[in-house]
Amino acid sequence: ANSEAGQLIALHQRAAQLYHHILVNTPAGAVARAYLKRRGMTDDLVEQFQLGYAPEQRVLKAFCDQQKIDYQILRKSGLFTEDQAGELHDRFVDRVIYPIKNQRGQVIAFSGRLLSTANNDLPKYLNSPETLIFNKRRTLFNLDVARKDAKQTGKIYLFEGFMDVISAYGAGVSNGIASMGTSFTEEQVAIIQRSTPQLDICYDGDSAGQNAIDRAIKLVDQEATGNMVTRIVQLPAGIDPDEYVQKYGGEKFKKYLSQHEETVVDFYLRFFRNDRNLGQQSELINYLDQSLKVIAKVTSPVEQDMYLGRLADEFSLDKAALKSQLVQLSEQLG
Ligand code: ATP
Ligand code: MN
Ligand code: MN
Ligand code: MN
Repeated sequence: ANSEAGQLIALHQRAAQLYHHILVNTPAGAVARAYLKRRGMTDDLVEQFQLGYAPEQRVLKAFCDQQKIDYQILRKSGLFTEDQAGELHDRFVDRVIYPIKNQRGQVIAFSGRLLSTANNDLPKYLNSPETLIFNKRRTLFNLDVARKDAKQTGKIYLFEGFMDVISAYGAGVSNGIASMGTSFTEEQVAIIQRSTPQLDICYDGDSAGQNAIDRAIKLVDQEATGNMVTRIVQLPAGIDPDEYVQKYGGEKFKKYLSQHEETVVDFYLRFFRNDRNLGQQSELINYLDQSLKVIAKVTSPVEQDMYLGRLADEFSLDKAALKSQLVQLSEQLG
């Protein structure tokens, strides 16, 4: 492919090989190798994800000059910063490199992570800028692999970070994806919808993670035109999927995923309790009102009845009264 896009992809593929080689085979990669090992990254995972290392002494520009790669292609690749004299300098310096691929498995961008975030005011993760071949809003890490797996398993897991996707893969969960750090977008929802009948959102088990789940559910609800099913897996407090795997092992992680899959309503019935004292009547009324609004959107009458039954049991309420309030709310919501 001699098109500009083709040349940019070819450059990224070579850069990925170079960074990977430096990580795996050279003395300059030793510190990063030790870092990844400490984080539980096996050789197999390093290979599978073609992880790399961009060393402190800048290597990519020299490599490209040696390969006689066109200056305009280098400029447009996003792999370099440009100074006032028009000189190009490696963008990624002293960072672990995560290649980001398109749906065909071709490298189109990189994310680079600092080896240490202590006494460092640089961003923990640095991503390639937008280019002709890299649109952040449309890109999902590991989607090329996850969509194949979804043909068998019927689902895709949405995690927060690259390390979560990689550790999950190591645990045998190869249908994990992550968005590009920023946020989850409408474009990504449309792409996911074409890739899987079910999406399981499994964000970090902290309050930021819970708020992000709430936003993701709303976005899917708003954008999904087909009948993709959404499920939630809420992790234990203060832990992310990668930390779960490192702490408890892959088998336990897989078991956790399968045993803690819940519906969107299940999630909200828990989420709405946060910062609420349900022993206080006014708080309980507000909680029930919020919960019934979510239950009102469920299309299956049987499923609605299950949630009403649970609320009635838990708070010793009359199910018929809950039901009539639900009907009222449904009419208000149209
Ligand atoms: P690690 O385990 O390596 O510390 P993480 O994936 O747990 O990383 P989080 O802080 O949970 O990191 O953030 C989730 C995702 O958000 C990251 O994988 C990355 O894509 C993105 N991200 C985090 N911090 C930054 C940052 N400073 N700049 C850009 N993206 C970021
Ligand atoms: Mn290799
Ligand atoms: Mn995390
Ligand atoms: Mn993490």
